Amino acid sequence: MHEMGIANSILEAVKTEAARYPGAQPRKVGVRIGALQAIDQESLRFCFEAIVRETELEALQLEIELCPRRHRCLPCGREFIVHDYEFQCPQCGEVRSECIGGDELALAYLEVEEYEPSAAGAESTQ
Ligand SMILES: [Zn+2]
Repeated sequence: MHEMGIANSILEAVKTEAARYPGAQPRKVGVRIGALQAIDQESLRFCFEAIVRETELEALQLEIELCPRRHRCLPCGREFIVHDYEFQCPQCGEVRSECIGGDELALAYLEVEEYEPSAAGAESTQ
C-alpha cells in the first residue's frame, strides 16, 4: 500500500530527528505532503497508528499538512495554485507553466517532551 510506505518513511524520519534529543519523548510530528503524492489522509493516519502501536512511539500524534500543486507561468512568472488540472495562468491566460510545488514529502516539525523529574518536584514546594 502506498500510504504504508509513506508512513514508514515518516517514522524513519522521526527516529532520526528524535535521536538528536536523547531522553526526550516525541509527542507530535508534523509532515508536509504535496497533492502530487496522491495520498489518502485517513489511510495514512491508519497506517501510521498501526506501525507505532505497542512501540515507544505509540503516543505520537501525526499532523498532516497538505500542500497544493503549484505552477509558475513561464511567460509572466506568476505563481499559482492548480485546481482540477486547470493550468491556465490567472494573470495572463497563458497555459505554458512549470510545476514548482506539490510533490513535497517532508518532516515539518517534531515536538518532543523532555523528562524533567527534578523540575516537577521543585514546583510542588512553592
Ligand atoms: Zn502568466
